[in-house]
Amino acid sequence: MNIFNNKRFFILPIVIIVSLIFSSFLFFNQIDKLKKQIDNLYFGTFIPVHKLHNIVNIYDKAIYINKLLKKDKKKISEGWNYYYKSYKTNKEKAILKKIDLKILKSFKRYDSKLFLNIVLNINNIIEYEVNVASSQRKVFLEKYKQMNEYLKYSLIIILLMSLALVAYIIYLSLQKHTELEKLTNKYKIDSITDGLTNLYNRKHFDLIFSKMTIIAKENNWKCAFVMLDIDFFKPFNDTYGHDMGDMVIKSVANTLRKSFNKQYEYIFRIGGEEFGVIIFDITISKLKKSLDNLQLNIKNLQIPHTASATGYLTISMGVTLVDNNSINKEIKELYKAADDKLYHSKENGRDQYTI
Ligand code: GH3
Ligand code: MG
Ligand code: MG
Repeated sequence: MNIFNNKRFFILPIVIIVSLIFSSFLFFNQIDKLKKQIDNLYFGTFIPVHKLHNIVNIYDKAIYINKLLKKDKKKISEGWNYYYKSYKTNKEKAILKKIDLKILKSFKRYDSKLFLNIVLNINNIIEYEVNVASSQRKVFLEKYKQMNEYLKYSLIIILLMSLALVAYIIYLSLQKHTELEKLTNKYKIDSITDGLTNLYNRKHFDLIFSKMTIIAKENNWKCAFVMLDIDFFKPFNDTYGHDMGDMVIKSVANTLRKSFNKQYEYIFRIGGEEFGVIIFDITISKLKKSLDNLQLNIKNLQIPHTASATGYLTISMGVTLVDNNSINKEIKELYKAADDKLYHSKENGRDQYTI
């Protein structure tokens, strides 16, 4: 199963897109601020200051030669207009208006006093602009530091988001894996378990039974196979109903579980109301004790059964003991032997076992 089939994976592209939009917004916002700062510093101060310096130089020259040349007037107009028309506060505008008028006046006739005054005024402006530039530079450096912080934090955020995303993907795939493992294990168990009784099923019986003599030989054990059948079960169903019959099958299964709960004791439901028990490492006396005990436990259930001679539900058993004499026999023969013994128990009046 592909983990990307999971609906939850639609979250992934959304998280990626949101984090990209978020981070690009942060980047562009900060870079834009930086650009504005540089523009401000460069166009707002340095170029005009350079032009103002030119104007001062022209007036100095005019004072030196006692006249203002026509081509110099043009240069002054250009430089001054560039500066005058750039962004200014109202207070600045008021001061500059006065200087503007003086410049216009200076174009009409040469006046050394006026010219000196203009040079003085423009030098003052230059000094003012340089001061503004230095304070703007401080602001710029401050903004630059701030931007650095922003970028650093946004990078950390993106990094954390990516990490969270990766962790989430790993978590989902691990979860899928354990889910699959659980299902597989469940299937493994289900495939060898009988649904009604939770005992091992016929399939598993066939496997264990086919290995029974090999295992016994390997471990030098005696072992036994018990075939077990509920007596007069057809009439029980007919009298008490099929559902009640199922409940009885479960009760017998539970009793079997209680009676054969030791290591190397395996219980199977091998047919409708037929069970099998395989016991390894057994002695005949221990086996007889176990079977007596089982019959007692079944009787103690006291399940009423009118068709039975005892008035209660009973079971019959046929047992094959696998010892040195029979260990080399074919599995089929051993099965048939148990079946024959069971038949004998039935014929002999039921509610008994034959070994
Ligand atoms: P005997 O003492 O000779 O064993 O008689 P019997 O009636 O038990 O034998 P028989 O094999 O003829 O009948 C077995 C009956 O078990 C037939 C069927 O109705 C019933 N049976 C088989 N499987 C199930 C089951 O899963 N649930 C129920 N309720 N009955 C079942
Ligand atoms: Mg039967
Ligand atoms: Mg029966």
